[in-house]
Amino acid sequence: MSGKVYLVGSGPGDPELLTVKAKRLIETADVVLHDKLPGPSLDLVDDEKAEDVGKRAGGEWTPQEYTNKRLVELAEAGKTIVRLKGGDPFVFGRGGEEMEHLAANEIEFEYVPGVTAGVAGAGVAGIPVTHRAHNSSVSFVTGHEDPTKEESAVNWQALAATGGTIVVYMGVGKLPDYTQVLADAGMDPETPVALVERATWPGQRVATGTLDTIVDVRDEVGIEPPAITVIGPVAATRDRVKAFLRNDYESSHSRE
Ligand code: SAH
Repeated sequence: MSGKVYLVGSGPGDPELLTVKAKRLIETADVVLHDKLPGPSLDLVDDEKAEDVGKRAGGEWTPQEYTNKRLVELAEAGKTIVRLKGGDPFVFGRGGEEMEHLAANEIEFEYVPGVTAGVAGAGVAGIPVTHRAHNSSVSFVTGHEDPTKEESAVNWQALAATGGTIVVYMGVGKLPDYTQVLADAGMDPETPVALVERATWPGQRVATGTLDTIVDVRDEVGIEPPAITVIGPVAATRDRVKAFLRNDYESSHSRE
């Protein structure tokens, strides 16, 4: 009998933000295949059952084919496997690909949602991704690709026109490119923008500016991945509430 694979989202990193189900599965699984993004949640994974399929010491990514193959191999050996991913497995997490691979190989699986960084990361910084006074839509996009190339998979011009919140994943490096494309598409240069780095991890940092200034702010503060970018009027709510925002994560690390 084949085992079963649980595609589990860890949430943004704080172990207390794991779902009760995720915690139970991590404790009872035979093997936990993970990358680095679950961050501090990984403290709950026993060393003996942890297998790191994230970035290797040399900086190389474990190829997705290896992870797919390993999941099938372990399941065929009858194991119960947790495939632990940061945030939600189906939001820029390749969970979709892994699920299809498992189904194609006749392996049973279950999806266990986690709170995605785009929602949780904004929230812990005092930024609601929707707010009745400001916007009625939110788009989650990848900033990984070159937004200036002709056939960008993200239609930044269209996003600029929606007036909704834009949450960019993997968008630290290309910040100068897509903020420029948005400005060229007519987005107000004064539009509030926030960067939230390592949300809910110890040492979380938040940096805020506008479409016009955020690149300088990024460089000044030295924001690095993993971080999300929140673009839109909701990003300014932080300034109105932050004096009373008390979460466990931010300490003197926040520089604004
Ligand atoms: N499946 C994940 C996203 C994986 S893509 C999710 O649902 O959250 C990797 C990107 O996610 C990072 O580059 C960053 O943009 C974002 N991310 C994940 N965890 C984060 C965290 N704790 N703080 C800030 N950004 C995070």
